[in-house]
Amino acid sequence: MECDVLIIGSGPAAWTAAIYTSRARLSTVVAAGSIQFMKGGQLMTTTDVENFPGFENGILGHELMQKMEQQSTRFGTIVLNEDIDKLELDHHCKVQFKATYEGGVVQARSVILATGAKVKRLPIPGSGDHELWNKGISACAVCDGPLPFFRNQELAVIGGGDSACEEAHFLTHYAKKVYLIHRRDTLRASKIMAERVKKDPKIEIIYNAEVVEALGKDSLEAVKIKQNGDVFTKEVRGLFFAIGHTPSTELVDAMGIEKHPNGYIKTHSDSTKTSVEGLFAAGDVQDFRYRQAVTAAGSGCMAALEAEKFLSEVHAGGIAG
Ligand code: NAP
Repeated sequence: MECDVLIIGSGPAAWTAAIYTSRARLSTVVAAGSIQFMKGGQLMTTTDVENFPGFENGILGHELMQKMEQQSTRFGTIVLNEDIDKLELDHHCKVQFKATYEGGVVQARSVILATGAKVKRLPIPGSGDHELWNKGISACAVCDGPLPFFRNQELAVIGGGDSACEEAHFLTHYAKKVYLIHRRDTLRASKIMAERVKKDPKIEIIYNAEVVEALGKDSLEAVKIKQNGDVFTKEVRGLFFAIGHTPSTELVDAMGIEKHPNGYIKTHSDSTKTSVEGLFAAGDVQDFRYRQAVTAAGSGCMAALEAEKFLSEVHAGGIAG
């Protein structure tokens, strides 16, 4: 398959870029990933999105993603429900990039990387894959919180940002009590989210505290917490990590793309251009500052306009469709 623009990702940056490039009559393929329930990126694991303009009563994250996808396909975007395994520069012909997936190859004249970021796990003893991970420990309260296992139990969330507050609040619908365990004495979350958890009678915030071990035999039974030099045990049946994200840059690492010291892709100032010509980065894979659905969508729009300009300058006369 050949296209003008290959967009890798399926969050707000990816779909917005696709709406713009398809409307500009550039042949556009979105490689949205093979896992249906993750198509849509991080917004698939969030509940109400209250701050995306245009939805006065909020909108569910997965509904917003569905609407964006449908808006892009209306203009001719081709959606490839596949994972791209390899992305290479192809200098032998006018087509610049070669993206390989299990069932074939996409050759693209430009690429917009919108692969987002993954939730971080805290490597404490007891939380490994062969220990209590998925046996009471999770990094997604919205995905796992409603499971019967967690109902009417005491649970814990680690973190002090918007995600941690959102997850703690969400878990109160199911849990008997939620401990929000934060390593500092103030929450990093926005004021509205912080106030919501502080007021919630089911949430107790444990400040200046770190979870140092997960305990349990076949499933999580308790966590060891270190606070001001003391170590104590709190019985909880669920532990949710909400400690931030790592950018998903694996596909472009081999190209030697420039990155910030924290691993996020470096783009030119006020631009989505990367150090690789014809490759643009949008959304959370390059944004460690704002990381909002609306800013991701905005950078997807920028990437689309910049890809369009690149194609008209570099591939003049060779654009498909
Ligand atoms: P974040 O703002 O980076 O917060 C991560 C939290 O985890 C911080 O409180 C941090 O502590 C803590 N942390 C990091 N590493 C840790 C460690 N090793 N041990 C213990 N604690 C650790 O990440 P986020 O909450 O996922 O939010 C990311 C972005 O998405 C933000 O811009 C946020 O506004 C946005 N977001 C918005 C919404 C919404 O508006 N509905 C919902 C979710 C996320 P420190 O505070 O000490 O650094």
